[in-house]
Amino acid sequence: MIRLTGIVKRYLMGEEEVLALNGVDLFIDRNEYVALIGPSGSGKSTLMNLIGCLDTPSEGTYVLNGRDTSQLTDDELAHVRNKEIGFVFQSFHLLPRMTVLENVMQPLVYRGMPRAERKALATRALEQVGLGSRLGHRPNQLSGGQRQRVAVARALVGKPSILLADEPTGNLDSRTSAEIMALFDELHRSGQTVVVVTHEPDIAAHCRRTIRVSDGKVVEDTLNPARAQVA
Ligand code: ADP
Ligand code: ADP
Repeated sequence: MIRLTGIVKRYLMGEEEVLALNGVDLFIDRNEYVALIGPSGSGKSTLMNLIGCLDTPSEGTYVLNGRDTSQLTDDELAHVRNKEIGFVFQSFHLLPRMTVLENVMQPLVYRGMPRAERKALATRALEQVGLGSRLGHRPNQLSGGQRQRVAVARALVGKPSILLADEPTGNLDSRTSAEIMALFDELHRSGQTVVVVTHEPDIAAHCRRTIRVSDGKVVEDTLNPARAQVA
């Protein structure tokens, strides 16, 4: 479902050209659970931005669910992104003046869905992450772990084909991190494709496959044997 072929990504820094990705070939199938790891500056965020349709490659093709996204206009790319990708970020990115329910309803606004239907879907997504009793709270009335679960519900509410998480536990203590990863484990078990960018080995260990990036290339791609038996 994700097929990257011959991906090169260059950034221009003044006169200098930065080669962020230098020939990446990658296939990620439906219902995989992938950790994307590598040192700072190796190209993880660039790769995630491409997979998440936030950016397009300088060279190469990206086929997502049978559709070549490399040639799309910004508007078309935004449309694909809205439909196919659910993002979770390190810093939650919740809207502070809105309730938990309103935050999770927000992505559905762009789909022209009636309010009652948005409310029903958002409520269900919040129940799925264990926050069915916090619908009317504001983000600042929640713990960090609860806020991240709201962000996960917001990412899932539109039923994306891929859940894409960038350092999702970076702002959480270790116990809360484990809770969030247990939630990801559960989502994976129920069929969700999950890709997690992380530099923490404990987080990567939850995943079924580890892809290591270094200097803009995939240098390792392994199945995690310990987890492979669990599901
Ligand atoms: P990581 O997420 O692994 O830390 P990045 O994908 O952010 O790595 O960065 C890969 C390389 O591309 C680095 O050398 C970084 O400095 C460079 N880079 C990333 N984004 C930009 C940008 N917008 N403009 C210029 N250079 C960038
Ligand atoms: P930080 O934790 O340092 O705030 P994030 O992991 O939250 O960084 O964000 C990673 C990248 O995703 C950034 O380049 C940011 O511009 C982008 N980003 C953040 N929020 C959104 C969003 N809601 N939609 C699209 N891109 C976003």
